Amino acid sequence: TQAPVNVTVTGAAGQIGYALLFRIASGQLLGQDVPVKLRLLEIPQAVKAAEGTAMELDDGAFPLLAGIDIFDDPKQAFEGTNIALLVGARPRSKGMERGDLLEANGGIFKPQGEAINAGAASDIKVLVVGNPANTNALIAQSHAPDVPADRFTAMTRLDHNRALAQLSKKLGVSVTEIKKLAIWGNHSATQYPSVQHAEVAGQSVDVDQAWLESDFIPTVAKRGAAIIEARGLSSAASAASAAIDHVYTWVNGTADGDWTSAAVVSDGSYGVPEGIISSFPVTAAGGEYKIVQGLEIDEFSRARIDASVAELVEERDTVQKLGLI
Ligand code: NDP
Repeated sequence: TQAPVNVTVTGAAGQIGYALLFRIASGQLLGQDVPVKLRLLEIPQAVKAAEGTAMELDDGAFPLLAGIDIFDDPKQAFEGTNIALLVGARPRSKGMERGDLLEANGGIFKPQGEAINAGAASDIKVLVVGNPANTNALIAQSHAPDVPADRFTAMTRLDHNRALAQLSKKLGVSVTEIKKLAIWGNHSATQYPSVQHAEVAGQSVDVDQAWLESDFIPTVAKRGAAIIEARGLSSAASAASAAIDHVYTWVNGTADGDWTSAAVVSDGSYGVPEGIISSFPVTAAGGEYKIVQGLEIDEFSRARIDASVAELVEERDTVQKLGLI
C-alpha cells in the first residue's frame, strides 16, 4: 500500500475548511486508494475550533485518513507537505481599501510561501482559495524561489463549474456533455467565462450574444453574492467541492479533447504578462497543469480578457509597491 500523502489545509476551522476536510478524508481529493495525513493550520485563536473539527474527522472513521495534526505555526504545518490548500485569508471588511486588504493578506501569504520554500516536499502542489486568490498566490510564490513557480495555482474551478452549470441549463444538456469552456483572468467580478471554444458533441455552442453578455457572464461572475443573498452564508460547500476538483484534476489529468480552468503563472501566452497568476484554459497530465496553446481569440473575448488581466496587473503593482513581492 502507498505511503500517506501529506495535505496541509490553512483556515481549517473556517466554513470552507469544514466542508473540505471531510471530502479529503473520504478520499475524494486524490483517489480512493490514496491514504492522506491532514496537517491543519489555524491562527492561535482558532486552534480550539480546528481541534473540534478534528474530533469530528476522527468520528468519521475514514479508512484513508492516516492522521491529523494541528498547528498555529506555518513552518511546522508545511513541513514535508505534498499538497497545500491555502484557504485561510483576511476577508475584506467594510470600508477597507484594496491596498489594505492586499497588505493584510501579504502578512499571511508571505510567511506561508517562505515556509513552503523551507520545508515542503519536493513534489509540493499549492492551491490558493483565500481571496484575493490570484494575488495571494503570487505573494506566496514570490517567497518560494526554490519551488518551481508552476506549483503555485489559484482557484477558478468554482467559476468554471458555475459556468458549466449555467450553460448546461441553457442548452438542456448534461454538464458532462460540455467541453472546452474556459475562465480567463482574475477570480473576481472582472473574470471572463468564455464559451468561444465550447463544444457539445463536437459542435460549437450556439448561444446568442445578448444572453452571454446580459445573463451568462454576470450570473457566473456574481454567483457568490447571489448565494450569500439566498443562503445568508457564503458558498462554502461549492468552493470546497471546486478545490477538490482542482487538485484531483491536477494529479489525475484532464480527459482527451477537453480542458479545465485554473489560475497559473503566465508564461506570456495570449498577451498575459509573464509572471502574474491568471486563469487560463489548462490541460493536466503527469501532475502538471499546462496552458492550452494556439487558440484564436475573438474581439469580444480579447477585450474581456484584457480588462481582467489589467486588474491583475494593478494588484501585482500594488503588492510590489508594498514590498510584498
Ligand atoms: P471561509 O472558509 O468561508 O473562506 C475562506 C476564504 O476563501 C476567504 O478568503 C474567502 O474569500 C475565500 N473564498 C474563495 N472562494 C469562495 C467562495 N466561493 N465562497 C466563499 N469563500 C470563498 O471563511 P471563514 O471566515 O469561515 O474561515 C476562514 C478561516 O481562516 C478562519 O477560521 C480563520 O481563523 C482562518 N485563517 C487562517 C489563517 C492561517 O491559517 N494562517 C490566516 C487567516 C485566516 P472572501 O473573503 O472573498 O469570502
